[in-house]
This record gives sequence, C-alpha cells and structure tokens, in this order.
Amino acid sequence: KMANATAKAELGRHTWHFLHLLTLRFPDKPTPEQRTTLSTFFHTFSLLYPCGECANHFQQLLKEMPVQTSSRMNAALWLCAAHNRVNERLGKPEFPCDKLDESYDCGCGPDPTSSKT
Ligand code: FAD
Repeated sequence: KMANATAKAELGRHTWHFLHLLTLRFPDKPTPEQRTTLSTFFHTFSLLYPCGECANHFQQLLKEMPVQTSSRMNAALWLCAAHNRVNERLGKPEFPCDKLDESYDCGCGPDPTSSKT
C-alpha cells in the first residue's frame, strides 16, 4: 500500500495519547520490577511501532535520552521531552511540560494502589 500521511498522523496522535497516559499513571515510587517493566516496554515499543521511519528515529532518540523510570514525574517529563524532540524535527510547536497533568485524563478514576486520583 502507498504511504498515507493522514493515517500516519492519526496513528501518531493516538499513540502519543496512550504513551502519555501510561507514564502519567506510573507509580510515584516504583519498585525495581516496575522500573524494568517501563524501560523494557519503551524499548520493545520502539522496535514494533508500525511506522518504520518513526520507529528508527525513536530508537535513536532512546539512545540519546534514556527512559527515566525513577518516578511517575520523571517518566512523564522524560516522555514529554522526547515528544518535544519529535515535534522539533517535524516543525511542530514545543509542548509546555508543566501542563501535562491538566492536559491528560485517562478516565480511570483513582489508582487502587495509590492515594492519587
Ligand atoms: P502530536 O504530535 O500527535 O501530538 C498530539 C497532541 O499531544 C498535541 O495536539 C498536543 O496536545 C499534545 N502534545 C504535543 N506535544 C506534546 C508533548 N511533548 N508532551 C505531551 N503532549 C504533547 N511522524 C512523522 O512524520 N515522522 C516521524 O519520524 C515520526 N515519529 C514518531 C515517533 C513516535 C514514537 C510517535 C508516537 C509518532 C511519530 N510520528 C512521526 C507522528 C507525529 O509525532 C505526530 O503524532 C503526527 O504528525 C500528528 O501530529 P499532531 O500535530 O496531531 O500532534
């Protein structure tokens, strides 16, 4: 099939949405196992992302900016910075990473393992 920029952009929007919610729901105080799981997830993700050009760029980005897994905040800010690097390359505006929490809501309600909402 032909490349289709509209479909590629749609895939990107949905994927970023999922990834940001994932890091924003990561524990404040992750166990070593949870930290490994997050790191493994992003490496596996970068190998399997359906847009091959995007996957190659993201693999390179992971080498320059290793996944931050020490806390929810560090993971969320790391992904925001990585997304901003992609934005920069595509000529898109930089997102203000201090606005992450107010911009994303997974609709999940309180996390049963924490006191956060
Ligand atoms: P998107 O970048 O999809 O962002 C969606 C929304 O998220 C924005 O409207 C904004 O509200 C919010 N947002 C923006 N920046 C941030 C941020 N830093 N932190 C939190 N929220 C933010 N496309 C290509 O053409 N070439 C590529 O190499 C490429 N690589 C990609 C790699 C990955 C891992 C992913 C997930 C996508 C990639 N894409 C690539 C797709 C591209 O990043 C966009 O998703 C797509 O172009 C649609 O852009 P958009 O303007 O709708 O906003």
